[in-house]
Amino acid sequence: GETGAIDKTGAMELPGYVHLYSGKVRDLYAPLTAAGRPDPELLLLVASDRISAYDHILATPIPDKGRVLTQLSLWWFEQLADLVPNHIVSTDVPTAVAGRAVLVRRLEMLPVECVARAYLTGGGLGEYAATGAVSGIALPPGLVDGSRLPEPIFTPSSKAPAGQHDEPITFTDVVDLVGAERAAAARDLTVAILKRGDEIAAERGILLADTKVEFGVGADGSLVLADEVLTPDSSRFWPADLWEPGHPQPSFDKQYVRDWLTTESGWAKQSGDPPPPLPESVVAATRARYVEAYERLTGTTL
Ligand code: ATP
Ligand code: MG
Repeated sequence: GETGAIDKTGAMELPGYVHLYSGKVRDLYAPLTAAGRPDPELLLLVASDRISAYDHILATPIPDKGRVLTQLSLWWFEQLADLVPNHIVSTDVPTAVAGRAVLVRRLEMLPVECVARAYLTGGGLGEYAATGAVSGIALPPGLVDGSRLPEPIFTPSSKAPAGQHDEPITFTDVVDLVGAERAAAARDLTVAILKRGDEIAAERGILLADTKVEFGVGADGSLVLADEVLTPDSSRFWPADLWEPGHPQPSFDKQYVRDWLTTESGWAKQSGDPPPPLPESVVAATRARYVEAYERLTGTTL
């Protein structure tokens, strides 16, 4: 097919590549070898402008979101390079997806979403309110929405099959899934990534409340940072000057979309209905937040 054509899965056809899979946001391809077979060692990871919320892919894309996610991840992979190896092979990609795709090492992924939190909010806050602990880690009393934790904590979740919700699990569950050594390595790396990210973001007036990373296993058995890293889709970024524990914080991520969906759109989250399309003003405001996160963090214009 022609570049730009859409195959039956909805993913763009790219000459020289075969489409393998599409997640909520990314389309994955294998480059074809000279023999015309999918290369088993490489993946083309294309970030679309799709946005998901409450486990739905929304009908309205956010222009430039794929470029922000890809370029911001590349920038962070460099900032983290001394802490952890990453999956990037090349940024030389087809023109049709220029700027929003990377060629990566195809890895066996750990079946765990590795989450670390420096501040308490979202699902972590709910767990704390119910039990005084998050992911089996006891926390001091009196913490509220947006409190900074005494120390960053590792709060993994299971990787649910497509369409299902990721469930919080404990470190012990991770040990059962991947073994003690890999579990400890994943925990320590995830926390180290959050700490480095928080330090760098703080210099730019941004708090990194929490983040999710994914690891694959390299040829020598060691962990390799894969997927995306420290983007507004995988992390909560808060403007530092507006930080005020005790209520939800303004953020540079899709919280704006979530709030519009649940308070203004008339959509009932539990209904099972797909969410309505986003109005132009919500698209523009969301795009602006993604672009501002990129520009403030990297100090460059998109
Ligand atoms: P799901 O795949 O469950 O839909 P998602 O919506 O987060 O999750 P996307 O972010 O759209 O998925 O797609 C990225 C997919 O690529 C994820 O399944 C991720 O685990 C996988 N992935 C990322 N990097 C690599 C890699 N280097 N090797 C193999 N798989 C990878
Ligand atoms: Mg993802």
